[in-house]
Amino acid sequence: MPDIPVVLLGSGAVGKSCIAIQYIQGHFVDRYDATIEDVYRKPVEVDNTPAVLTIVDTAGQDAFGAVRDQYLKRGQGFLLIYSIADSESFQNLKRIYAQLLRTKGDHSQMSCIVVGNKLDLAAQRAVSYDEGKMFASHAKCPFMEISAKNRGQVEEAFAVLVRSIRDK
Ligand code: GDP
Ligand code: MG
Repeated sequence: MPDIPVVLLGSGAVGKSCIAIQYIQGHFVDRYDATIEDVYRKPVEVDNTPAVLTIVDTAGQDAFGAVRDQYLKRGQGFLLIYSIADSESFQNLKRIYAQLLRTKGDHSQMSCIVVGNKLDLAAQRAVSYDEGKMFASHAKCPFMEISAKNRGQVEEAFAVLVRSIRDK
């Protein structure tokens, strides 16, 4: 059974590392070094079927917000993450998605889920649910709003992604 390469994408500070650590270790970290990029290997079970994910927590984009191509080339599933409290992170995610699509050529080589993170900061919401949903349908992928503080929501986001990889 080959590992499924999954890549977390999004601007700095949207919560990529917190989502990865919540999923791998089952707890929320308040501070995490923004420069660290990590690769985790996690055996999971989705719908009673086992799989092994290789999860890449990316860091460090260039001045134009571009992600290193190598991340995009080797990924099969992508969590496209923005913060619902940061509209710039949403605009930047649209550019990252465009870069992903250019790198992959078309949708046949990838599965993704659009994730609006920091749902617990709804009082500071800057991106509406409908805007997120509309972008996800444009990107032909499922959409969820979650909080990295909520383990169940984080697990559900990965489960939705694994299902969509399997359904390809
Ligand atoms: P990254 O740069 O995308 O990896 O972002 P981090 O995971 O390092 O998170 C950046 C900051 O946002 C940290 O201070 C986190 O504690 C905070 N953070 C991440 N996810 C959430 C969330 O769901 N809710 C809240 N309130 N804060 C979050
Ligand atoms: Mg990080």
